[in-house]
Amino acid sequence: MDYGKYLNNTIQNVKPSGIRRFFDIVNEMDDVISLSIGEPDFRTPWHVRKAGIESLENGKTWYTPNRGFKTLCQEISIFANKKYDLDYDPDTEVIVTVGGSEALDIAIRCLVNPGDEVLVHQPSFVCYEPLANMCGASAVVIDTKEENDFRIQPHELEAAITDKSKLLILSYPNNPTGAVMRKEDLEALRDIIIKHDLIVISDEIYSELTYSGSHVSIATLPGMRERTVVINGFSKAFAMTGWRLGYAMGPKEIISMMIKLHQYCIMSAPTTAQYAAIEALRNGDKDIEHMRNEYDMRRRFVVGSFNEMGLHCFEPHGAFYCFPCIKSTGLSSEEFCTRLLKSKGVAIVPGDAFGNCGEGFVRVSYSYSLKHLTEAIGRIKEFLEEL
Ligand code: PMP
Repeated sequence: MDYGKYLNNTIQNVKPSGIRRFFDIVNEMDDVISLSIGEPDFRTPWHVRKAGIESLENGKTWYTPNRGFKTLCQEISIFANKKYDLDYDPDTEVIVTVGGSEALDIAIRCLVNPGDEVLVHQPSFVCYEPLANMCGASAVVIDTKEENDFRIQPHELEAAITDKSKLLILSYPNNPTGAVMRKEDLEALRDIIIKHDLIVISDEIYSELTYSGSHVSIATLPGMRERTVVINGFSKAFAMTGWRLGYAMGPKEIISMMIKLHQYCIMSAPTTAQYAAIEALRNGDKDIEHMRNEYDMRRRFVVGSFNEMGLHCFEPHGAFYCFPCIKSTGLSSEEFCTRLLKSKGVAIVPGDAFGNCGEGFVRVSYSYSLKHLTEAIGRIKEFLEEL
């Protein structure tokens, strides 16, 4: 059968994720030591799992309100206020979603029309451009540079804006570079955002994993709250990737549209996960601190090791990735990763999977035990010596 004629044209034309392509090779090999995964190696803290289990034991197996449990929305609002000085009304300005992923999808779908331009900085997480494309919008890519610590520069944003620009997607702390935007960096962008009347989706899923200074949300800057949707979730902060729970916070006019969409395509986020998330927000601060300290130690080890090997590694200040430059080897990112995988059985991700400007870099996740990291780093060292 010719399925092409049945399938949606826009979706057929979206290119598959570069990360997937690489994992297809990894999955066919034995004895691979991987530094490629984008999720915590920690288990969800026990008291959080227990809250989920208890909800099941008590037979709490029904749908929840579309927006999410009222108590959970309240806890999200309290947490966002305590940690980032954000101020959202839990009854009208918060929605609980199936991971940050759903929050991103429905926020983009509620904000863009066909023909709009969506500004996306790269290297960055892979879903923004395809999601914009699936709405009939085009993504205008802003290449960030290592010499600027992978932060968007005001002139780069200004240069990318046209009269079709509508939405800017900000993604800091950044996957794959580990870059963060400080308050003054965000302030410099704010004036341009307001001048050109842009709306912002700020993906802050790694906000709890910052290692020097605390995370600043662009929504806290004067004039930005009314034009920002903040995306966050439980996957990274609380090691809850499999529970599939995230949230968005923003002006009620936008959140109410997102609830309309969510109601038709999802109904409500997973019930058990919502019970667990209430416990995580109420009593999870120590767990976050413990995991953050662990990541920080691994971060120093991995970044130090790459620099010692002669592969210059920008110091990541957030998330759990580092992004060493491999240009000195003369190999492309893809060649480097494929040869490393085939000769030493170490899987890392080519930087260009996160945008063309990631060429010449590789993404290394340090969300692994020190023992695992030490073994992998040893093999990468051997690989470089043999090159
Ligand atoms: N944003 C970024 C930057 C991510 O790296 C990820 C997951 N890797 C997500 C959003 C989605 O996370 P989840 O759906 O698990 O909340």
